Amino acid sequence: MLGNPSVRRRTLLAGAAGLAAAPFLARPAFAANPRVYLDPGHGGTDPGAVANGLQEKALTLNIALQIRNILQANYAVDIRMSRTTDATVSLAQRTDDANAWGADIFVSVHINSGGGTGFESYRYPTTDAATLALHNALHPRVLSGMRTAGSVTDRGQKTANFHVLRESAMPAVLTENLFIDTVADANLLKSAAFLTATAQGHANGIANHLGLSAPPPSFSTIVDNLTAGRFTASANWGTSTYSGQRYGTDYRYASPVLASDSAWFKVNIPATANYRVDVWHAADPGYSASAPHIVVTSGGNQTVNIDQRTGGGAWRSLGTFNLAAGDRNLVGVSRWTSAAGLVIADAVRITRV
Ligand SMILES: [Zn+2]
Repeated sequence: MLGNPSVRRRTLLAGAAGLAAAPFLARPAFAANPRVYLDPGHGGTDPGAVANGLQEKALTLNIALQIRNILQANYAVDIRMSRTTDATVSLAQRTDDANAWGADIFVSVHINSGGGTGFESYRYPTTDAATLALHNALHPRVLSGMRTAGSVTDRGQKTANFHVLRESAMPAVLTENLFIDTVADANLLKSAAFLTATAQGHANGIANHLGLSAPPPSFSTIVDNLTAGRFTASANWGTSTYSGQRYGTDYRYASPVLASDSAWFKVNIPATANYRVDVWHAADPGYSASAPHIVVTSGGNQTVNIDQRTGGGAWRSLGTFNLAAGDRNLVGVSRWTSAAGLVIADAVRITRV
């Protein structure tokens, strides 16, 4: 349900500029994140459409807040909303606010009424390619989102001279998310899972249009020489609590020898990706001047030598490596060095980057 007409400011602007309407305010150069303006329809003294025990203003706020939360949780994006509570906000206030902020896109969320069923969405009739692109990205993804939670009719992509589409100075789309006065639709709108699916669909469409990619899942794990089942070393490796720089209770040491007798840290890598590998050791003038650390990367073993006479009691980076998914002996400390001093094995930390 919508409010409407007056001047075609958007068309006049577009004509004067010789192209699509540009934002009134240029975005500051430091604003690296795309700016998304979310407009939950109605609010406060304007409930929007009311039927079947539901109020449009409450549903639009619920969906829009979830869109915001999903986007903020998954992408580098700046969000502004016309309202975040049950507040009365005029149509002019909404578009003025979005224009003043310099939003990159404007998405208005509504619930339909008047008899009918399903999902439809709107853009301004004579809008530019960027608006069409937003509409094309958003519509099918909202529909797909909804259909993960219920059966929904596709009423199509439409055009209309609505205030928020006309007066917004950036690509704008308005979604009509089912009919509040149709019982089958209202039953879906009463489902929390359906509202979340609808919000997820909007978020997917917005992310697709803006080319947002999700940051890599975070992963960091520490394996100490005492971590159960994750450290192995031969009986040639002694155990020491000599240095206060140790990680955890104790650490392991061995004399250098020209033979393979590595201590191994085993790590379960969740996905093939790039990881930073850090090691922790105690330092002492009597420790190795060049302790070989073996990293089992997806492209084969790589060896990094660490001077363990100094720099102890802190994480030291061996570098960033592409590591294959799977549980394996990942980092080895080798005794095979001609450098003097005891070789130390204490702890490793693996962090996805
Ligand atoms: Zn409405």
